[in-house]
Amino acid sequence: MNQNAKIAWDYLMSKIQNQIGVAGLLGNLYAESGLQPTNLQDTYNKAFGLDDEAYTRAVDNGAYENFVNDSAGYGLAQWTWWSRKKNLLDFATSRGTSIGNIYTQLEFLWDELSSYGLTAMLRGATSIRSASDEILTKFERPLDQSDKMKEIRAQYGQQFYDEFANEDGENTMSNSSMVCHTHISPNKYSPRAKPIDRITIHCVVGQASPEALGHLFADPKRYASSNYGVGPDGRIGMFVEEKDCSWCSSSRLNDDRAVTIETASDNFHPYAVTDAAYAALLDLCEDICRRNGKRKLLWIADKDKALAYEPATDEMVLTVHRWFANKSCPGEYLYSRQGQIAEEVTRRLQEDDEEMTYDQFKEYMNQYREELQAADGSDWSQDDCNWAISSGLIQGGGNVNGKTQYMFRDFMTREQLAAVLHRFAKKIGKE
Ligand SMILES: [Zn+2]
Repeated sequence: MNQNAKIAWDYLMSKIQNQIGVAGLLGNLYAESGLQPTNLQDTYNKAFGLDDEAYTRAVDNGAYENFVNDSAGYGLAQWTWWSRKKNLLDFATSRGTSIGNIYTQLEFLWDELSSYGLTAMLRGATSIRSASDEILTKFERPLDQSDKMKEIRAQYGQQFYDEFANEDGENTMSNSSMVCHTHISPNKYSPRAKPIDRITIHCVVGQASPEALGHLFADPKRYASSNYGVGPDGRIGMFVEEKDCSWCSSSRLNDDRAVTIETASDNFHPYAVTDAAYAALLDLCEDICRRNGKRKLLWIADKDKALAYEPATDEMVLTVHRWFANKSCPGEYLYSRQGQIAEEVTRRLQEDDEEMTYDQFKEYMNQYREELQAADGSDWSQDDCNWAISSGLIQGGGNVNGKTQYMFRDFMTREQLAAVLHRFAKKIGKE
């Protein structure tokens, strides 16, 4: 598969966050262009006597001026209709890139999908075939929309899914960068069978260092391991990668979902841990939650309720070894602090909620404006708005579901103001 497929997959995943939707879309783009952003519809290569690169260059440097109106399919989605080609050309010009730049085309594609009202469908898609059919019939609209064509496009989508979907899973499973000693144990199931949504904290019953734990778990006859271990000095070891299932809590069901942590402790009641170990434990829990996309760590003291609880995608649940075996693990010291650990880690995870990157801000701003643009005007202004439309002063833009959007609730820019004033001046003959 080509490099462009990977670029397109990653870009679209960042927007759609649903592999099935991305696959359905990508199969269609592949059918259109082979995912070559400079692809010019083959019949026009011959008609113009230009290969893809020469056509792209000529459009970029202005030597070829008929890009908008030449009816030749071009780019990832084989944009053909003049207004779409014009929008693409304007978009590339505004970004200062080649018309054939893949990132430009992907962003433009995303804007178009938004204005066609297809983004929610892609995000919620549960079958590649149906997502692919929707894109085929509502977005690409080729002449051939036969069942055979639908099947072919969905099959392309399936191939991309097979190639990239699992890879994403591996990429999202990372390990803690707080680890200072790694000694991988043979005692594990690889890979784990479930996504991570639990943390299980254990006590070692002994003030063991990460090195000592690593040595212990390296023995295949012990049938035991943990993902991480915290030493009495707060140093952290890793024995089983997070992508794998450790043998730690006497429950495969739990350990398939849990990141397990052995914490160095006293070997007598209440199995206290050092302040350094406790502090490192909090840091490690926070780190595990962050990397796994969790914003809440929950402690539900009632065993049955906790085990029956289905966490939301941003929630992580604490479980304890004593629920699965006749043991006191994690010992009274850590058991009585589960609530405190959950609370403190959650506080940290939500602390920087207010901090927003510039890109996030822009995304939210676009979202907010889309909301405003889709909203109807207020009642009080209805007469004024109707007048503005019928007099041609406000002409509206983006066509959504066959309906012109007048965007009365959205902000007005100075250039829009200038256009309206200009229309008004012409109307009253004062231009
Ligand atoms: Zn335990």
